[in-house]
Amino acid sequence: KELGLEMNSKQATISELQNKVISLEKELEAAKLESKEDFLTKVATKRALMSEIQRIEEAYKRYGTDYSICFVDIDFFKKINDTYGHGAGDEVLKSLSKIFKNAFRNEDRVARFGGEEFLAVIFDVKKAKAVSILERIRETLNQNVVEFENHRIIATMTFGVVAHSGNTEVNIERMIKQADELLYVGKRNGKNIVMSADYDPRG
Ligand code: GH3
Ligand code: MG
Ligand code: MG
Repeated sequence: KELGLEMNSKQATISELQNKVISLEKELEAAKLESKEDFLTKVATKRALMSEIQRIEEAYKRYGTDYSICFVDIDFFKKINDTYGHGAGDEVLKSLSKIFKNAFRNEDRVARFGGEEFLAVIFDVKKAKAVSILERIRETLNQNVVEFENHRIIATMTFGVVAHSGNTEVNIERMIKQADELLYVGKRNGKNIVMSADYDPRG
């Protein structure tokens, strides 16, 4: 009888441990997803994109694929938060990131890089094509009304795009930095604008 009781209690401990393993596995899955996909905007995280960057560089070297890198930042976002509240800011972020992401193909890459900054890697395009894709997004945003409570909000973005084509050696980190610098030129030029340049290997 004693042995039976002991076995019952061991069986209970085993079931408890099994349940614990199942719940930890679920938590691990959620944490993995969270580190790859941004919770608010459902686009990739900076971390997910950066871990793919090397693969992108290698593909470029192997196949000589052209690509462009675009950095974008929402204009006057602090003012939107201050005027309509943080909840409105979140709605704007969701709406704009959806438009931004849907403008690209599946093989392109879009990530949330910081608070209200996004980065896109656009494959197989030269500068003119990249600019036309971004101009289309920019025009869409100018017509896009984000409704929040009883407010109707129009938010714009400024774009900095660096295109790479031909067979110069590319350094993606450097390309991202050049796109970021162009974005700030756009901010100084009044925002809601697409600024573009070819990749400068010495820049
Ligand atoms: P600029 O036009 O020059 O880009 O100015 P800005 O106001 O857009 O930029 P600034 O860097 O001054 O402000 C960005 C703000 O974005 C500050 C921060 O509180 C807000 N922010 C960052 N992440 C989030 C978020 O997830 N939700 C909301 N609602 N706000 C956020
Ligand atoms: Mg901003
Ligand atoms: Mg910013």
